Amino acid sequence: MADLRLAGIGMTSARTRDRLVQRLREQGIQSLEVLERIRNVPRHIFVDEALASRAYEDTALPIGFGQTISQPYIVARMTATLLESGPLHNVLEIGTGCGYQSAVLAPLVGKLYSMERIEPLLRRAKAHLRELGIRNVRFRHGDGSRGWKTHAPYDGILVAAAPLTVPDALLEQLKVGGRLLVPVGPEGRQELMRYTRRELRVERESLGPVAFVPLLSGVG
Ligand code: SAH
Repeated sequence: MADLRLAGIGMTSARTRDRLVQRLREQGIQSLEVLERIRNVPRHIFVDEALASRAYEDTALPIGFGQTISQPYIVARMTATLLESGPLHNVLEIGTGCGYQSAVLAPLVGKLYSMERIEPLLRRAKAHLRELGIRNVRFRHGDGSRGWKTHAPYDGILVAAAPLTVPDALLEQLKVGGRLLVPVGPEGRQELMRYTRRELRVERESLGPVAFVPLLSGVG
């Protein structure tokens, strides 16, 4: 039964997932390891049963608490961009949500630390990753804009919600050569930014317009 749930049938089957992978390829995602993760992670278990038939559409879908599961294209793109910089021993993810992005990323890095401000979502994410047998993720309930100092500095930090300006704490928790990927700006005018920490300065590049939910302060 459990295997059947993960494998999916009909609109959640391997064929449907292959079509999503093909679409992401056409949109420019080249990393084979990332495409393989998109193929293998059963996105339908992360959404409500009523939405399962739409799980392999390339769109964000509601997961409750006013939040959404990220669009597969953006998950693939952020993951591939993070991996470009070489092996990642430790990565910090802000905005666990239902854990879909964590499930795609975790097997590609040494250790993943993931923070979420809404506790019931975090609980759900933990259960999903357990079901998938993913064990290299540590979760924390809290405000991710302050980062997670205990395990810093990080090779990479990925933020799945948009602050108006980049939190300094996140830049401070990067290793030299480490990268922070973060959507920045108000709703309707966000840009995906990549910050690279160098010895004496921080490099900043825009990777183009994106649409994310806002990064909120405090816990939910
Ligand atoms: N990548 C997730 C979806 C992220 S939606 C997935 O694949 O499901 C963005 C998430 O960021 C939401 O769950 C929201 O609650 C969370 N969030 C917003 N502000 C936050 C903050 N300051 N700290 C931690 N999480 C935050």
